Amino acid sequence: TTFSDFGLAEPILAALAGEGYETPTPIQTQAIPLVLEGRDLLGIAQTGTGKTAAFSLPILDRFSRDRKARQPRGCRALILSPTRELTSQIADNIRIYGRNLRLSTQVVFGGMPINRQIRQLERGVDILVATPGRLLDLIDRRALSLADVEVLVLDEADQMLDLGFIHALRRIAKLVPRERQSLFFSATMPKSIAGLAEEYLDNPARVAV
Ligand code: AMP
Repeated sequence: TTFSDFGLAEPILAALAGEGYETPTPIQTQAIPLVLEGRDLLGIAQTGTGKTAAFSLPILDRFSRDRKARQPRGCRALILSPTRELTSQIADNIRIYGRNLRLSTQVVFGGMPINRQIRQLERGVDILVATPGRLLDLIDRRALSLADVEVLVLDEADQMLDLGFIHALRRIAKLVPRERQSLFFSATMPKSIAGLAEEYLDNPARVAV
């Protein structure tokens, strides 16, 4: 399998080639076609397997194809991740894969002045990578709405629960539209994650690497 076999948009393929990506990893080979079809997904994969590209390439592909002018732009993809390091890494990778597209990817996490993040969001965002606590702070301050979210990604779901983010996740889940695509990734599948998946995913495809 090659990345062009997935039918990804040319600007994305060019970015991948520029990064020296030649062959999709196993999670990418399994997940990308399913996500492109619009399926919900439950993926069991560790960091280092290439899961970031597995969920972000189909998101970029979808957004690259519809040119509806939106003013102001509301967040269309929300990626939740447990730590500032992970959110930054995810956003860095999405910016690389999307470098030939005119999309705004932003990252918000706690421990940074919130006012700067509020000003950033005012400029509009297509893809937001966030830790749950700071995201809710921004929503409470009306700096952001989740009403336009089309794709919700929960990364490192097991770590999120270990860090006590369950109540934040439940609040966030109530704020995103019912009609959406949801992609959950976890390194392990304890009962708590299976339960969360059951509750929030719609007939998910399952992939494991
Ligand atoms: P991740 O598991 O998403 O954190 O990715 C782990 C690392 O592998 C990141 O540094 C990616 O840039 C890199 N990577 C992801 N997919 C590929 C690929 N198909 N070919 C080469 N490197 C990749």
